[in-house]
Amino acid sequence: MDKIILKEMDANFKNEIAAQPGAEHFKRCFTCGTCTAACPVAEVNEDYDPRKIIRMALLGMKEEVLSSDILWMCSRCYTCYALCPQGVKFTDVIEVLREMAIRQGYVPKDRIQKIRKLDKFVQKLRCDLITNKLHPENDDSDAVCKTVKDELSQVW
Ligand code: SF4
Ligand code: SF4
Repeated sequence: MDKIILKEMDANFKNEIAAQPGAEHFKRCFTCGTCTAACPVAEVNEDYDPRKIIRMALLGMKEEVLSSDILWMCSRCYTCYALCPQGVKFTDVIEVLREMAIRQGYVPKDRIQKIRKLDKFVQKLRCDLITNKLHPENDDSDAVCKTVKDELSQVW
């Protein structure tokens, strides 16, 4: 995180978020880090940190949060949602932030649909790869790789 310049913060950003259905309790976050410790995306991407996203939002770093690529990394697995001791419902909060980013012109309108399609594609790919590995006699990795390339170009 770059240095924080208070006069550039949007003090109302947190209220704007908390006014949206699903994000009502996000100001309850007490920075315990349970979400980040359990997040499968944070495990593979050191820049992804749900706790930090909430801190940035609470501080009023609207521009940084809504224009960040990191907003689109969440796979919506609901692990943080289930474990949060404060009932923050981060999976819903991230959805609220994504919709705000679109409504306020930070990203293209079709971003959510594209991410949804990509998530579905990745899940299918995971199932195909597991099936391939569980049945090495039928393993056709070359075909899977070709399908990935073809399908990915249609998804995004
Ligand atoms: S688990 Fe909940 S309270 Fe803890 S840091 Fe994450 S959102 Fe905040
Ligand atoms: S819903 Fe998103 S932020 Fe929460 S644990 Fe899953 S991937 Fe991480």
